[in-house]
Amino acid sequence: MRLKLTGLTAAKGLALGRARIREPHVLDIEEHHLPPDQVEAEVERLQQAIAATRAELAKLRGQLQGALAQEIGEFLDVHAMLLDDPDLSTGLTTLIRTGLYSASYALKLQHDRLVQVFEAMDDPYLRSRREDVDHVLGRVQAALHRAPDGSDVIGLAGDVLITDSVAPAELAQLSERGVVALLVSQGSTLSHSAIMARSLGLPMLVVPPDDLAVVTEGAAVMVDAIRGEIIVEPDPDDLLQLREREFAQTRERRELARLRDKPTATRDGTPIQLLANAESREDISRAHRLGAAGVGLFRTELLFLQRHEPPDEDEQLAAYRDAVLGMSGRPVTLRIFDLGADKADSAGIALTREPNPALGLRGIRLGFARPALLRTQLRAMLRASAYGPVRILAPMVTRRDEMAHLGRLVQSCTRELRREGHHLPQQVQLGAMIEVPAAAIALPAMLSTLDFVSIGTNDLIQYLLAVDRGNPALGEMFSPLYPAVIRVLHQVIQTCKAAGKPVSICGEIASDARFTRMLLALGLTEFSMHPSSLLDIRATIRDSDLRQLRRRTGALLRAGRRTTLEQLVARL
Ligand code: PEP
Ligand code: MG
Repeated sequence: MRLKLTGLTAAKGLALGRARIREPHVLDIEEHHLPPDQVEAEVERLQQAIAATRAELAKLRGQLQGALAQEIGEFLDVHAMLLDDPDLSTGLTTLIRTGLYSASYALKLQHDRLVQVFEAMDDPYLRSRREDVDHVLGRVQAALHRAPDGSDVIGLAGDVLITDSVAPAELAQLSERGVVALLVSQGSTLSHSAIMARSLGLPMLVVPPDDLAVVTEGAAVMVDAIRGEIIVEPDPDDLLQLREREFAQTRERRELARLRDKPTATRDGTPIQLLANAESREDISRAHRLGAAGVGLFRTELLFLQRHEPPDEDEQLAAYRDAVLGMSGRPVTLRIFDLGADKADSAGIALTREPNPALGLRGIRLGFARPALLRTQLRAMLRASAYGPVRILAPMVTRRDEMAHLGRLVQSCTRELRREGHHLPQQVQLGAMIEVPAAAIALPAMLSTLDFVSIGTNDLIQYLLAVDRGNPALGEMFSPLYPAVIRVLHQVIQTCKAAGKPVSICGEIASDARFTRMLLALGLTEFSMHPSSLLDIRATIRDSDLRQLRRRTGALLRAGRRTTLEQLVARL
């Protein structure tokens, strides 16, 4: 029966495939006892599942290539070690033999026990290893449910994968296997996985779990991750519409491709800077190819995630230098690690047990709490500046003295490196992300410590509205179309302009063509976005008249209601 569902777009695109439902990672299995004569067969089944998982991890390890191969490889090695632990296998076998439990239920019991042990640990690094327990036992569980011919390996060509969440490391593999779209019930449109899905061109929607529950395995599913719609068992008219939309999209892409080498300026001639957000070598090469004027935000967290030890100075230098060389002389803005809260950390750097992580020891606060780590990163960034223009960006800044302190640290690292014989440029620019309301409001007091400003609207909106950016249940409440958000953005942009400091927006709204004209009207002339949006935004800007838009600024700022704002923005 035809059914229409809606979701929030995490990565744009159109797809048609068959539903493939993956059990949640969390092992939600009912207690089930076996007749005694089946116990040995169940033990054998479990051993086979463990062996299959081991082979799967080894195969995955062998297939890794590209910029993230080393990081993901180390992460897979930890999983293989956990799987080979003799206590794991003995514990499971004992549970099956003495409790007459099914292998699945024994796995669940073992999982719950291990999680308890990990969670009771004082050491934050060890505590954070519980994620690995989830992933390894989740894989064994999936292997147990796999048909003997392996035909239900999750994610085959033509599948629309329906699941609770997908780890960023899994996405490349899913895309390689030919999975055409992802429907997830957890996570948000701003998550790391969403950003990765965009890089891979894999359409992804976040859909409420109760809606996803009605989709049956194998059903035909049409995904429109542009409008945020899903049609289960589409009828002939739906299919025709999809073909038409695909055709229109291809034509649009071809037209956009012509804009690659075109300048970015409004119709009335004001040049606008389009910068890219990047976190991998692939992003850098795409940004360069599509004519980004530089990198406005290089997220360095990926280097720190999914591994045991933080990267040392040389490893970081290699990654940052790669980005700098990849942009051939265009400026690259390297962000200090913004670990904590939504950017979970397996290396145990961020605290994992804070009562309120979004308001906790994250971003630059964490850097100051771990000075050796911060110094190592600053040294690597400064060394990368010998290869091309580098700017250093601090996340989650709240107060002026944080920037003053950071400035002194940068100077001290620069002196130290020069003493060691490194030739560094005269000065590396230092900027702050404006994403905490206090920093936005008190910006004039902070400006003298800054060379540039980057507005992180993903967090700024979250903190201004008290709306969790990662909670899909809040849906459209997370939006820039609130009078408070518009006024703060305008104030920050104008404060920077008046002081002659470059200001850009690097949050997701800069990638969203629905808001481009509104941001131009508020005075923004520098946008930093996911590379996949560069041409789309360039097209919108080239089709905008800045003089006309500036006539609407007053109305935008006076709008007292969200509905008024929505109407005004739609008409710009
Ligand atoms: C932001 O907060 O807007 C931002 C760009 O940073 P992140 O999404 O990495 O927190
Ligand atoms: Mg942020």
